[in-house]
Amino acid sequence: MESSKSGISAEKLFKEGLGINYDDFTILDTSFTDIDREEINLETSLGKNVVLKTPIIASPMDTVTNAEMCIAIALQGGIGCIHYNFKNPDGSLDIDKQAEIVKQVKRFENGFIENPVTVSPEHKIYETIKIGEEHKVGKSAIDTFPVTENGKSHGKVVGILRKQDYSRTKHTNLMVKERMIPLEKLIMAEWPITLDEANDMLWDNHILSLPIVENGNLKYLVTRSDLDKNEEYPLATKDDKKRLRVLFAVETRPEIAYERLEKCFNAGADGCIIDTSQGYTKYERDMAKYIEKKYTDKLLIGGNISTKEACEALEKWGLDAYRCGQGSGSICTTAGAIGISSAPVSAVYDCAKTTKKMKTIADGGIKQVGDIVKALAVGADAVMLGNMLAGTEESPGDVIIDPQSGLPIKGYRGMGSKEANVSGIRGYSRLPQGFSGYVKYRDSIHEWVPLIIDGIISGFHVKNCKSIKEIHKKIDSGDLRFQINSSKQSKEKGLYGPL
Ligand code: IMP
Repeated sequence: MESSKSGISAEKLFKEGLGINYDDFTILDTSFTDIDREEINLETSLGKNVVLKTPIIASPMDTVTNAEMCIAIALQGGIGCIHYNFKNPDGSLDIDKQAEIVKQVKRFENGFIENPVTVSPEHKIYETIKIGEEHKVGKSAIDTFPVTENGKSHGKVVGILRKQDYSRTKHTNLMVKERMIPLEKLIMAEWPITLDEANDMLWDNHILSLPIVENGNLKYLVTRSDLDKNEEYPLATKDDKKRLRVLFAVETRPEIAYERLEKCFNAGADGCIIDTSQGYTKYERDMAKYIEKKYTDKLLIGGNISTKEACEALEKWGLDAYRCGQGSGSICTTAGAIGISSAPVSAVYDCAKTTKKMKTIADGGIKQVGDIVKALAVGADAVMLGNMLAGTEESPGDVIIDPQSGLPIKGYRGMGSKEANVSGIRGYSRLPQGFSGYVKYRDSIHEWVPLIIDGIISGFHVKNCKSIKEIHKKIDSGDLRFQINSSKQSKEKGLYGPL
């Protein structure tokens, strides 16, 4: 049977003991294509009703995933996981910052904004401007404020201060009550109301924001710009209140983790990733059990692991999904530092075959779009990207010009590097397991991710697969055929462009 088909089967490719990397093999065009590209749907589930239309997760790294990345990647149908390496000026951990970012992302595209930023009638306009800048939505400062008697989010509504009601230069010393639209002239809606009805009211009254009140107290705010954004990003990953979804990273050390969990889940996070380079430990087991019990309805992702043994254990601990990959990240020196790692594609294949309910996230070593197709083909439900997203406009840090090539680049570093200085959190040793470098600049997520999606769809089209489930079936049936690259071919890869 084997000899009558082109190439080799997955079983043969991953024959015992051989560590397969993304560059080591290619998938052969052995499937007759009779579907159209439009029929292909890359939707994937991570568990607990968290469904992504784009199977991409932004890695919890401090040179990759902040508020802007989480917002942009969620708008494009993926999801971001906020890293935990925020520090106070004295070097201590700043847990509140991570929770603040969760809030910022959840507030970004609300149907109903639950905790709108409000001011009191006695605030000065300059104070209001400052408050707006402290509560950014994405990159923009807030400029429209419901005014409540006590200045609180759910206080008695007394007016609204809109962008067009005040000058940022002329009115700074006036009080809000001198410039706001007062209650008598204010267009408001009574709760309950549907989002569609609120939308109609915005249009009918030619206004951009609508306070929704219950017994005179502010309950929600609905804005025209949010509703416009809904239309612009049809793939966006949202919860049932139409807010963008977001994850956060949490360590295994209870003395910090418990506080972090409490604050970030209170801020509205959809799930968390237990972020450790070795997930097959009692530390992860205890943390997973704690989270599973206390935050039952939240998505719980574990890892990192890369073997069947670890996979079986994590499945028992109640994790919904896991990061699969150890020692394979592009900024990773784990294999050299501790001698324990796995080739990334072998890890995904072995683990995905082992898991029953848990979802597999291929993490580390993915450098080009074709690698994503390979990861999904051998069993991953989604991929986690560091390197491929670190050079985008939305990642933290500035674009600089590489003095040698003259090309724009951005910094990218391992969370286990000396520079990231996440002491005692990611690994358990002081010996660095990562390094710091640069990646090429890649424009905005809103340009780059649609291109990535396009490439994945092309791969699926050639393999005549309409979904990730279908490509997984092809590996089980032996329909997915592979070729091992000669070392010459592997080296030549570096000559090709970013795709
Ligand atoms: P990349 O996309 O190939 O650069 O891999 C990113 C992944 O590398 C992350 O999602 C982490 O799993 C892993 N990682 C992040 N920082 C380090 C580190 O310092 N050492 C080892 N692995 C790391």
